[in-house]
Amino acid sequence: MEIFNEIEPLRAFLRKKRSNQISIGLVPTMGALHEGHLALIRASKAENDLTISSIYVNPTQFNNPSDLDNYPRTLEADIALLERVGCDILFAPVNAEMYSGSHHVNFDFGDLDKVMEGKFRPGHFSGVALVVSKFFNIVQPDRAYFGQKDYQQFQIISRLTEELKFPITLRSVPIARAASGLALSSRNQRLAYEDKEKASLLYKTLSYAHSELKKGVEFSIIREEVESRFNKADGMKLEYFELADRLTLQPLKNNNLSHAIILIACYVNGVRLIDNMLLE
Ligand code: AMP
Repeated sequence: MEIFNEIEPLRAFLRKKRSNQISIGLVPTMGALHEGHLALIRASKAENDLTISSIYVNPTQFNNPSDLDNYPRTLEADIALLERVGCDILFAPVNAEMYSGSHHVNFDFGDLDKVMEGKFRPGHFSGVALVVSKFFNIVQPDRAYFGQKDYQQFQIISRLTEELKFPITLRSVPIARAASGLALSSRNQRLAYEDKEKASLLYKTLSYAHSELKKGVEFSIIREEVESRFNKADGMKLEYFELADRLTLQPLKNNNLSHAIILIACYVNGVRLIDNMLLE
């Protein structure tokens, strides 16, 4: 695997490769890699000649400084995993390379970033859109791969790609889960063993809501029950639990569940986790 820390050498390398008419797949990550990330790499390898993964903990998307400080950084282990799955290129820049001086570009995605993650993490999606735009410009991939786990992020990046006319096809890859149902996440590394058990409540909640909705139960009734379960669970704090339209992400007002998604965010002993489930 070729490793680059700087933009210009990477650009020069990709320019040469591109003259052979090859397709390029990009998998942006913040590192502390797990099976979920590797599924994205495999999806890219299956349909591109060259797969490039980035590892960069982007400061502008963290609204909480202690979350940024505590974000796991495991570059050596990440490199070994990327080599194991046959990733061709790693781009792991430092802050000075990605942000020279101060940054002034802000994004506003209208209704899309005023709910859920956007509401509880002010500025988060502006930072995500900024760094993803930088990666799209630097790498100029044919396809880019994102996880369904960050569902709202995928909708934001779709809007960004459409509005800025990036000639890039976006792919969403299903959520990789542990046997308990817990969605794999780099932040799970910060959970103690017992906390991982507790955290399976996210998936249990989504599965419960899914089956109740299919029986025709009103979402407001399901939400009451979920809130009461979270209130009783030691160390758990529910942040949001929503039934939304899967494209607009606005709360679903009708009973058209075929376009619905359930999304949840909570804290497990101070570690913030998110998950979601599409309704069949
Ligand atoms: P992150 O390193 O957490 O920023 O994630 C990098 C990419 O991996 C994003 O597109 C995430 O949605 C995706 N991802 C993270 N966790 C999972 C998972 N459990 N299953 C599938 N994709 C994931």
